[in-house]
Amino acid sequence: MLSAVRELSAFFGDVSGTSAPCPLLYQVMTDLMMESTLVSPPTRLWVPKHVMITRPAADLPHTAEIIRRCESAGVDDIRVMPGNALTGLKGASERETYAKAKNTLAVVVAPPSTLKPQPIPPSADWRVDLAKGCPAHCQYCYLAGSLAGPPVTRVYANIDDVLAGIRTHAGRGAITSGTVERGHEGTTFEMSCYTDPLGIENVTGSLAAAISRVGSGEFGDDVQLRFTTKFDDVGELVTLDHQRRTRVRFSVNAADVANRFEGGTARMPARLAALRSMALAGYRVGLTIAPIMPVPGWREQYGSLLDDVATALADIPDLDLTAEIITHRFTPSSKEVLLGWYPNTKLEMDEASRSQKRSKFGGVKYVYPKQTMAEMRAWFTAELERRLPAARLLYWT
Ligand code: SF4
Repeated sequence: MLSAVRELSAFFGDVSGTSAPCPLLYQVMTDLMMESTLVSPPTRLWVPKHVMITRPAADLPHTAEIIRRCESAGVDDIRVMPGNALTGLKGASERETYAKAKNTLAVVVAPPSTLKPQPIPPSADWRVDLAKGCPAHCQYCYLAGSLAGPPVTRVYANIDDVLAGIRTHAGRGAITSGTVERGHEGTTFEMSCYTDPLGIENVTGSLAAAISRVGSGEFGDDVQLRFTTKFDDVGELVTLDHQRRTRVRFSVNAADVANRFEGGTARMPARLAALRSMALAGYRVGLTIAPIMPVPGWREQYGSLLDDVATALADIPDLDLTAEIITHRFTPSSKEVLLGWYPNTKLEMDEASRSQKRSKFGGVKYVYPKQTMAEMRAWFTAELERRLPAARLLYWT
C-alpha cells in the first residue's frame, strides 16, 4: 500500500512538507485504504465564519499561513482587531453567544503563562498548547470547566515560542520518562489538552508545522509529540516526514455515545479510516476510548467498536498501538457550563447516582460508583487483550 501511495504522490506532484493538502490525492488514497466496513459519509471540515486577529498576532509569520488557509477555505470575514481584545462575541442570549463563539477563530499570541510546559499526568511529561478551544459540540466536552467566557477557538500565532518549550524541556520529563512502561518513548509532549488540533488544522496548519519540525530533528531525536482527535482530515498529515516522533490517538466510543453526544465531529467509521491511514503512513497510533459510559448494551457496543478497530488495523506493518481508557466524569462547574450550552442534553449527570472523588486541591468530581467502575475495568482489560492483542494499555481512569 505504501508503494501505491508513493506512486500516487509521483503522479499528482509534490505533496510533501506543510503545503496545503491535495484533496484529489487524499480522496484516491482514502478510497484505496478504506475497508468496505469503514465506509462513512465525508466529514464536513470546520470553516469559521469569522476570523479575528489580535494586533500583536497580525505580523507573525504563522498568522500569514493561517490567513492563507482561511482564505482558501472560503472565509471572507477576516479582521485585524485594534488591540488584544476580542470584541463583539456576545450575543443577545447564551445560545447566540455560544453559536457566535463556535463560529469564530481568534488568532492570538500565547501569553507567557501558556508557554511554560506543564506536567500532564497520566498522558505525557509535558503539555504544549497549539490552541485553546474547539469548534465541535460534544455534550460532555472536557473543556467545559476550564474555558472562561464564550467558547471561541484561539489559535496561537507565536508557534515558535510554543514549540520552544519542547527544546527547553526535552530530557526533563518525570511522568512517562524514566518509567519501565513508557520510558522508551522519549520525552513526551501532549498537544490536545485544550483543543482538538486536527479539528482546526485545515485553517491553522499548526499541527503540520509541529509534526514536521519535530520530525526534522530540530528538537533532538528523543522527543515524542502526542495528540488525540475526533476528526479525520489526515490528508496532509500522511504526507509529512514525521520520523515516527508523533503518536496520534483517535478518540473512539460506543455508537450510542458518539452518535448522540459528539456533534460536529467525524463519524466513527471515518475516524477508523483515518486511524488506518495514519498507521499506514507509519505514525505511532492509539485509541483514546473516552468517555466510556455504561449505556444499555455497553458490552456489545464497545465489543463491536474494538472489533472494528481490529479490522481497520489488521494488516498494518510495524503497528505501534496504544490504548487509554477514561470513564465519564463531571464537576459541578463543568455540569453548569454544559447545561448552559446544551440545555436539552440527555447526558446523565446525576450526582446521586455517582461517587465523589476529591482532587488534592479539594475540588470534587463525580465518577461512576465503585462497582460499576470495577465491572467496566474488568471487561475492558479482558476484551482489549482478547480482541485487540496488539494494543498496549497505558492507563485506565
Ligand atoms: S472534540 Fe473534544 S474538545 Fe472538541 S467539543 Fe468534543 S470533547 Fe470538546
